[in-house]
Amino acid sequence: MTNSNGNYDVIIIGAGSVGVPAADCLSQAGMKVLVLDKYASVGQGANKAAIGGIRATHSDPAKIRIGLKSIEIFSTWEETHGDNIEWHTGGYTFAVYAQREEEILKGLLEIQKNYGLNIDWLNPAEMLDAVPALNPDGLIGGTLSPEDGNASPLLSLHAFYRHAQKQGAEFRFNESVTEIPVKNAKVQGVNTDKGHYSAPIVMNAAGAHAQGISQLVGLDTSVVPDSHEGGITEPVAPFLKPMVVDIRPTKGSANFYFYQHHTGQIIFCITPSPAILGTDRRETSEFLPMVARRMVDIMPRLKNIKVRRTWRGLYPMSADGAPIVGKMKEVEGFVQAVGMCGQGYMLGPGLATYLVKLITDDMDDDAREVFEVLSPYRDFGGVEKLK
Ligand SMILES: Cc1cc2nc3c(=O)[nH]c(=O)nc-3n(C[C@H](O)[C@H](O)[C@H](O)COP(=O)(O)OP(=O)(O)OC[C@H]3O[C@@H](n4cnc5c(N)ncnc54)[C@H](O)[C@@H]3O)c2cc1C
Repeated sequence: MTNSNGNYDVIIIGAGSVGVPAADCLSQAGMKVLVLDKYASVGQGANKAAIGGIRATHSDPAKIRIGLKSIEIFSTWEETHGDNIEWHTGGYTFAVYAQREEEILKGLLEIQKNYGLNIDWLNPAEMLDAVPALNPDGLIGGTLSPEDGNASPLLSLHAFYRHAQKQGAEFRFNESVTEIPVKNAKVQGVNTDKGHYSAPIVMNAAGAHAQGISQLVGLDTSVVPDSHEGGITEPVAPFLKPMVVDIRPTKGSANFYFYQHHTGQIIFCITPSPAILGTDRRETSEFLPMVARRMVDIMPRLKNIKVRRTWRGLYPMSADGAPIVGKMKEVEGFVQAVGMCGQGYMLGPGLATYLVKLITDDMDDDAREVFEVLSPYRDFGGVEKLK
């Protein structure tokens, strides 16, 4: 182990969907930030497995607020900073073919609208107008939130990374955090396989590996790695604008979602049921037939399209499907920004603006409400309806 390499205000463990935008915002707020990642560059954990969906269409006030903030950042990034992150305002539709889903989605509309989300319930004719390729048989209707969209997870993270560096944030890659020294119940910094770095605040943004990082300070966050697979087809002429989500549980899967990238490919993902826990990222042979069947069922014209590639990545799952974010009372200076489930990419930039308020103790009513919902000390009994 080398001697101390420097003193920082904040050390972030993980250069992923959460850690990189957080580093950018904290540096902009004047803090000296170090980000450490065991991989060779940014976004090599779950971030690069994400299919790029970005929505504020959530079921709880915290995620709606964070999502709206994220959309503001993603959608204006190119205009403000000049980097093309492939933002595209395609919208999100939740297509409904059964009464259970109709009740869930209609039940959420009031809270979603109250928190500023532009969303409406569409009847079958309106749904077919928004998504002409949907199977009309049994279609009850659905929701459309036209301001949601998609962007490239790797282009975005590299843009946030370059911007963070310009603000003074330092990044060290190929370096694993192995210890978090604690003295008098306060964090002192981190030890890695290459050195020691000091800081009064250490942020756990280690994604699917968050539980192992929490254990380094004797805490339990109960974030479990849960495998999801995605895929991409050959490009075809544009015919589909919004992301299509189907939350009907069926044998083998809980829900699935897909959209057409502006370069023509269909990008898709499915949530296996029961969940596939663990860190094994080898693709399965069950995934493609299962998701293909569901996609062709909801959109018959997809039956001849060729799939070019599939991949598997890890959702960092919390027990109730919502992120776990906040300062830990047991160990001063240890901050959790974990448990992003299937939404860490879309939540990252918006969450970063709230993390600044948390870390600089500059909380307004809006931030207080967000951190109450995401508190590590909440009752984890609920289940997020749109996870
Ligand atoms: C198939 C699939 C599709 C998805 N689609 C979407 C989508 O459309 N939209 C969306 O918002 N989300 C999507 N997600 C989910 C999204 O990818 C995750 O929620 C998000 O990337 C988690 O962000 P994170 O920062 O918590 O973790 P990560 O991005 O995984 O970052 C954590 C980082 O911590 C590092 N790390 C861990 N332990 C250590 C250590 N000891 N020392 C140093 N570094 C360490 C890792 O190397 C990693 O780079 C999808 C996920 C999958 C698998």
